[in-house]
Amino acid sequence: MYARSDADPTCLIRLSFPETDSPRSGGNPISPCIRRRYSEDGMYDPIEMAKATKEVVCRGDRRKYYRFRPARFYGGIATADCVGCCLRCVYCWSWREVENPERIGEWRSPEQVASTLVGIAERKRYRRLRISGNEPTIGREHLTQVLSRTPKDLLFILETNGILLGADPEYAEDLSRFPNLHVRVSLKGTCEEEFSRLTGAVPEGFQLQLKALENLLPRNVRAHPACMTSFSPPEKIAALKKRLRSIHPSFADFEVEELILYPAVAERIRKLGLPYHAAHRPDRIPPEQV
Ligand code: SF4
Repeated sequence: MYARSDADPTCLIRLSFPETDSPRSGGNPISPCIRRRYSEDGMYDPIEMAKATKEVVCRGDRRKYYRFRPARFYGGIATADCVGCCLRCVYCWSWREVENPERIGEWRSPEQVASTLVGIAERKRYRRLRISGNEPTIGREHLTQVLSRTPKDLLFILETNGILLGADPEYAEDLSRFPNLHVRVSLKGTCEEEFSRLTGAVPEGFQLQLKALENLLPRNVRAHPACMTSFSPPEKIAALKKRLRSIHPSFADFEVEELILYPAVAERIRKLGLPYHAAHRPDRIPPEQV
């Protein structure tokens, strides 16, 4: 554990998004297409944000990416970092790409993405592939085509915020065609109010995150929940466990995500005065978080 913040733990932060300079943006300009999606009270609907972002980062079956790399997570995994997300988490480490999808990234076809991932895996002797960076489920056609081009003996881990999988059960149905797929749904806080505080989105978005798990389960898509708990008191974590157990008993034992204080993240949280109780330095991430 690295640091503790002293701000009022009950504060609910309402953010406004002026043209260029908000605490959440860290003073960076926000793309016009994204800025349009914020309402006057500074909140946004993540489904509408996904639609607006898709217009920018998807063209036919192609999508924008900003990096391909081997990564140490999951014991070694070939990773493609896509551009564009439908949330705005205060602790996001890829904020620059989230807020500026028009300016960042290069177009890649599903064939290019799949062959680059497989090439990295072969070179590094990895057995796992993933799309990470921003939100992979934006651009359904692209994602399913990437999945259909990856060898079935390699595990593909889909790291998602679950918003689009919760909004449309047919998306989960589409994913059930891929036996080498495992979906990790990353919950943004433990309840509706925390979700809204951490993402700036309308609170109902949290229900879509849980709904993603509910949609995947009956379709036999392997999945598990993870949750950012650095901002959550113990009683809220216990309440989340109860909610997850009601979806499936194994979900109560969810993966814990904790804040990593990359410099830009630390600065954003400091400006917002957002309280947290657990965090790690980027050079001291504990093994269980890798
Ligand atoms: S869902 Fe992920 S990529 Fe999107 S803002 Fe949150 S942390 Fe960043």
